[in-house]
Amino acid sequence: MKLQQSYDYVIVGSGFGGSVAALRLAEKGYSVLVIEKGKWYAAHDFPKTNWQLRKWLWLPMFKMFGILKLSFFRHVSVLSGVGVGGGSLVYANTLPKPKSRFFNHGSWAKLAKWEQELAPFYEKAWQMLGATTNPLLAKADEEMLALAKQLGKPEAFAPTKVAVYFGEKGKTVSDPYFNGKGPERTGCTGCGACMTGCRYNAKNTLDKNYLHLAQQLGVTILAEHQVTNVIPLDKQTGKSGYQVQYKKSTRWFSKTKSITCKGVVFAGGVLGTVPLLLQLKNSTLPNLSPKTGHDVRTNNEALILNVTLDKHKDVSKGIAIGSILDLNENSHLEPVKYGEGSGFWRLLMMPMVSEKNFFARLVKLVAIPFTAPWAWLKVLFVNDFAKRSTVLLFMQNLDSTLRFTNRFMGLSTRVSSGKPPSAFIPEAHTIANKHAAITQSKSVVMLTETLTGIPSTAHILGGAVMGHNTQSGVIDKHNKVFGYKNMFVIDGSMISANPGVNPSLTITAIAEHAMSKIPTAKL
Ligand SMILES: Cc1cc2nc3c(=O)[nH]c(=O)nc-3n(C[C@H](O)[C@H](O)[C@H](O)COP(=O)(O)OP(=O)(O)OC[C@H]3O[C@@H](n4cnc5c(N)ncnc54)[C@H](O)[C@@H]3O)c2cc1C
Ligand code: SF4
Repeated sequence: MKLQQSYDYVIVGSGFGGSVAALRLAEKGYSVLVIEKGKWYAAHDFPKTNWQLRKWLWLPMFKMFGILKLSFFRHVSVLSGVGVGGGSLVYANTLPKPKSRFFNHGSWAKLAKWEQELAPFYEKAWQMLGATTNPLLAKADEEMLALAKQLGKPEAFAPTKVAVYFGEKGKTVSDPYFNGKGPERTGCTGCGACMTGCRYNAKNTLDKNYLHLAQQLGVTILAEHQVTNVIPLDKQTGKSGYQVQYKKSTRWFSKTKSITCKGVVFAGGVLGTVPLLLQLKNSTLPNLSPKTGHDVRTNNEALILNVTLDKHKDVSKGIAIGSILDLNENSHLEPVKYGEGSGFWRLLMMPMVSEKNFFARLVKLVAIPFTAPWAWLKVLFVNDFAKRSTVLLFMQNLDSTLRFTNRFMGLSTRVSSGKPPSAFIPEAHTIANKHAAITQSKSVVMLTETLTGIPSTAHILGGAVMGHNTQSGVIDKHNKVFGYKNMFVIDGSMISANPGVNPSLTITAIAEHAMSKIPTAKL
């Protein structure tokens, strides 16, 4: 691909924040280059099941260039997306809006009346992502409703708002969203495989909306390249622009190349942006705030798989997350599924043990199979793991924060406030047990949770949060990086409180808000 020598803006990463920035900057008359380390996937390229590891997992060292990255830290294991479209390729399409608490907590709380200020941008985000209420309630959703009824709160159950095109099943139509400027879409088949990538062109991933429209306005997307360095041309605040260095990400060895630009948008997601900023703070961008890497949060999630013993049941149909249960002021529950045949996770699962003490947990772990040996044998040898298992995604907006630091061995976590996120959230285990009783299931969790007590999250947030100044944040309320000109952080790292629900809608809305503050280019 032939690139210009210089752009107005270089955007690092093409997830939710990066895609919004690409389109809106281009609309305002700027020339834009998006550099994305992952691959550019067409619908037929996605894996048929998650056993096709080379297409599912991102492990470039082993020549595996899939869409899901697993990262393991001392206090949390993280699932994140890679590719043109970032986490939208692998995500479960669900777009809930957080409750009021989110807008009034954390380092951004006093910077604006966020709930009012962001309201129109949430509407815009829903519209751009093609969000609609899920019409395909399936077995896993019926079971969630049964649980809601048993809890005495059927009104707490609702179908999710999702970024999926539900036309006639399997029928391709011309763009239904952007007055003909968008790509063709095909009606969702309800195959449940959204999290291994939609092979039916029904999921509204970012390459089908923001990035597609951005390209029409001349935005260049350079896939399979990773940004490794950003150097202010004046060696100080970047007022003369930046040199951005990057190299091929899908080769073991490659030459570093560089390009110049007037502005930089960091949008690599928390696990892309935060380590890069930490590295640059120690080299070319020393003015970065001392808060870089602080205030990292999860949704205080628990991911529990309930595997049913009923061999006639199939919970793999529908969309990945078809419904949501509003458990109380602080907690939500969603039933998540993989498509038929996607049983890879069974290799990484162990029985759920509700015991914080390691030795007590080990004793229980050994004892559990003897309590119901036949049932546990069935779980072990269940024929299609995806058909028989519902992942219960429990999320809480109660807060605790971690800090990322760059160590000799790479990125690592430390506890910075409150207790570290826990793999043993009592409410989550209680609700999982109730669901298991309704669905005749046994509960299993990631083996890192049972063995080490480290929780898992698909919603890693923060690390470059908003604040009044460099002492309280890395960016201001319009996402501008303190200490540098024309430099922004626009992705999950800017999230400055715990939303308590899936965050992509919020990332999109805040990105839209930040972009609305950028002046049009002086042409
Ligand atoms: C399995 C799964 C299911 C999920 N389901 C949902 C859901 O239903 N609803 C929801 O709201 N959220 C969901 N999420 C979370 C959601 O995907 C993320 O919160 C969201 O994608 C974060 O957006 P972002 O803008 O921070 O960047 P991302 O979407 O993470 O994108 C960042 C991109 O930048 C690239 N990048 C990183 N570093 C560099 C670099 N140095 N150079 C070039 N490129 C770089 C990465 O490859 C990536 O493509 C899910 C996540 C997972 C893993
Ligand atoms: S359920 Fe299947 S067809 Fe529908 S969006 Fe998900 S992957 Fe695509």
